[in-house]
Amino acid sequence: MDLSFILNELGENRSDYFNAIAPPIIQTSNFQVRKVDELRNLFADESSGYLYSRGINPTVDILREKLAALDRAEDALVFNSGAAAIFAAVLANIQADEHIVSVQKPYTWAQRMFDNILPRFNVDTTYVDGTLVENFAEAIRPNTRIIYLESPNSWSYALQDLRAVSELARDHGIITICDNSYCTPIYQRPIEMGIDLALQSATKYIGGHSDTVAGVLSGSSAMIKKIFDSEYLNIGSGIQPFNAWLLIRGLRTLSARLDRISATTPKIVAYLKEHHQVEKVLFPFDVTFPQYELAREQMSGACGLLSFYLYADTRQEIVRFCEGLHHIMMAVSWGGHESLILPGCASLEDEEFNPDNPAHRVLRLYVGLEEADYLIRDLERGFESM
Ligand SMILES: *Cc1c(COP(=O)(O)O)cnc(C)c1O
Repeated sequence: MDLSFILNELGENRSDYFNAIAPPIIQTSNFQVRKVDELRNLFADESSGYLYSRGINPTVDILREKLAALDRAEDALVFNSGAAAIFAAVLANIQADEHIVSVQKPYTWAQRMFDNILPRFNVDTTYVDGTLVENFAEAIRPNTRIIYLESPNSWSYALQDLRAVSELARDHGIITICDNSYCTPIYQRPIEMGIDLALQSATKYIGGHSDTVAGVLSGSSAMIKKIFDSEYLNIGSGIQPFNAWLLIRGLRTLSARLDRISATTPKIVAYLKEHHQVEKVLFPFDVTFPQYELAREQMSGACGLLSFYLYADTRQEIVRFCEGLHHIMMAVSWGGHESLILPGCASLEDEEFNPDNPAHRVLRLYVGLEEADYLIRDLERGFESM
């Protein structure tokens, strides 16, 4: 299916709504049912039609169809946040006393679920360095049910060989879940590589305008139906129609935005690599990246997120760098129109800063839709402020 068709047409039956190009926001909580038997069918299977918007909603349906197609998945669910998508995917596939193998340092709220919530049900998580497939193999126990992946990681950009890990998991009857927020399905399709459930924070590139929080979960019809019938309806964290509409709007320009960012980011990487105050740059599509070959093999593009390590003896130098920027904003998240900076030392006091620890000197930069020269001039200001 053509990408342009998915973004502009798929799921949109425009003759149902006055041939409007933009879909309507069906802002309703419930739907009228005219026959008692119809009601009985809906009670038996809430995914079979329109009953209540915590389940199925027509605006959300348009979005689901597009997102599933982007992932080459049979079906998808859209949640009120990426964190909710992660929670539902894991909860749906784990029982008390079972075991999870996770890539080390996954997204913060995935890790907190593994560390703080699941141990209450005697579910243990083993973290492994995911750059070697053997590490997953060694961590598998008889009660391992889930292998949780995030490739690339949104700080270290560490990759996992998705084909090899999914093959290993399949041999052991283990379900694989992969956080694909960095690449989006435009640049990487985990389902095609054998992963069971692909998820992403739609807050990032799908929304693309820093105005909506949402998450996507894609997989087989059977898996998605199982999650819909239970966790999705029960947690009640499905996306609201207005936010779904914003994401449909975001999708219209998704590929154009990624093209733009893919053209700008290498220029910023080249500039930073040459800068005498920069020790190193981490970016999966840079030839010096340790897993460059694997990145080229399983990703068709890289996003605008990268990290660089400043030479700095004090925390204050990094503070002055960040606060000396005029245009690049200091904020969490990424994937919007605006470039952002996030210093690793934000969680430290000045006295705790150790210049020998690279994690204290790291800055995460997100390249938005601005001109490369404009961003480079701003970074120059930062360096001058140090
Ligand atoms: C932001 C993010 C999430 C969580 O998404 P929310 O929409 O903020 O809940 C999950 N994984 C990664 C890699 C992210 O960057």
